[in-house]
Amino acid sequence: MRNFLCNRVKSIIPYTPGEQPRDLEYIKLNTNENPYPPSLKVLKAMKDSVDASIQLYPDPESIKLRNRAATYYGVKVENVFTGNGSDEILALAFMAFYQDSKICYPEISYSFYPVYSNLYKVDDEKIKMNDDLTIDVNKMMNKNKGVVITNPNAPTGECLNVDTLEKIISSNSQNVVIVDEAYIDFGGDSAIGLITKYDNLLVVQTLSKSRSLAGLRIGLAFGSENLIAQLTSIKNCFNSYPVDKISQVAAIASFDDELYFQSICQKISNSREKTISELTKLGMKVLPSKANFIFTKHKNITGENLYLKLREMGILVRYFNLPSISEYVRITIGTKEQMDELIKAIGEILK
Ligand code: PMP
Repeated sequence: MRNFLCNRVKSIIPYTPGEQPRDLEYIKLNTNENPYPPSLKVLKAMKDSVDASIQLYPDPESIKLRNRAATYYGVKVENVFTGNGSDEILALAFMAFYQDSKICYPEISYSFYPVYSNLYKVDDEKIKMNDDLTIDVNKMMNKNKGVVITNPNAPTGECLNVDTLEKIISSNSQNVVIVDEAYIDFGGDSAIGLITKYDNLLVVQTLSKSRSLAGLRIGLAFGSENLIAQLTSIKNCFNSYPVDKISQVAAIASFDDELYFQSICQKISNSREKTISELTKLGMKVLPSKANFIFTKHKNITGENLYLKLREMGILVRYFNLPSISEYVRITIGTKEQMDELIKAIGEILK
């Protein structure tokens, strides 16, 4: 087969997304989706927005959505950026702020970062974790290079507090610090409040997880006016209309239904704590988590075997084939019923 890829990207190993099975009905606890549907108000707003105006392009600046998000988070519209999922925002940020330069991020974090680094020729230092897989915060200070932190971290679930993040951001003031808050709504405190103080901070969020809208692809980012203007100029070199009209309407409706949003986040964090306690009773080691997933292992079974056995029993979880975390599986928090099934299945496997 001939290879038409140009030299710059020929050797890239792409990101592997979690499996989206098409054959069997699985209990799907492998891609950190929300087990609850979006708010009915969101679905209604989407249906109502389907009309002939779809013949026109959507608002390239997502002004109404950015205004709504700005009010929600108490910032200015100029501080808000929208993208086609937060993956697109991260890719644009790597392209805009890190291309051909240097960054660092914890060795165990979102596995898309090394892919973007390869794609944009970023020299990426992977900071070794502490023995308990927590982030070695001291090693993230005064780096004199870009910094990327997933908070809560994925796949470990650890959440740094805002004071700690502030130390990292202020000690790296000459470079852009990205805080990827894909899972922040399940129990962490957002760093958005720091964007007015630090013009080098970009906080990236998504509506895929806590707002049950993974199928639409909506991401948000928050930063100083200057940083957002620069990111926008690079976005406009790539895609003028990344967020479609229906997604913009859905995202606004989601911010309008705070009660529903709070109730599903609460259900998931309650279910997470119950699952941690049940799995601990079964002898599993579970890392503390503020996300909608847990990272867990048992001394008598490898992560791969636990993943395979659960799969045979119709439950999908995520296993990472990396030496430092090969004992672990990452399990997304599903509904109460799904977690009961999971606990029963793990109990049987461990017998
Ligand atoms: N950041 C992290 C840490 C994630 O786990 C994910 C989901 N895979 C994303 C960003 C991207 O989410 P999305 O593109 O759906 O907004």
